[in-house]
Amino acid sequence: MSRQLKKLLLNPWVVTVGAALLVDALIDIGIIRFVRAAIGGAFRLVQWLLQSRVAVWQITLLFAAAGVAWRLSHVARHTRKNRPVFLNYTTDTFDQIPYRWSYERLDAGCRIGRIAAHCPSCNCEIVRMQCPRCKVVYFANKDRAQLIALIRHGIGTRFATDGFTAVSE
Ligand SMILES: [Zn+2]
Repeated sequence: MSRQLKKLLLNPWVVTVGAALLVDALIDIGIIRFVRAAIGGAFRLVQWLLQSRVAVWQITLLFAAAGVAWRLSHVARHTRKNRPVFLNYTTDTFDQIPYRWSYERLDAGCRIGRIAAHCPSCNCEIVRMQCPRCKVVYFANKDRAQLIALIRHGIGTRFATDGFTAVSE
């Protein structure tokens, strides 16, 4: 910031008249009240920066840091939106019995949610090893740990597993 420019900008006339003109111009084109407040705030910030002994490189560094932070948050948002493909793998047949499950998204990755066996002929959920509709008994006797192992194996053999961290039961 050159000394002359600083002197010019810090001139009370420039600050007061400049602010007033700017605010008047904004009111004329119908800008709402909070924009006036924002402009006032920006003026005060510029004034403060000029008055305080903050070096230009420090201000530059501040803006650079803000830029980097914004970029990182943008990347993080984008990554969250990119759903891992394996989350579409929610059904498979183990020992002739179709199973369906869900995933729970966690900060650390994903966790396999509820797993349910289904009737191979009517697709109704099997309850206590029996289809409530067909009354057929199925030996859907795999426990949750076995099913999780099968599902994880399925994920591992079909998909790139980046981001998959199953939380142990
Ligand atoms: Zn059935």
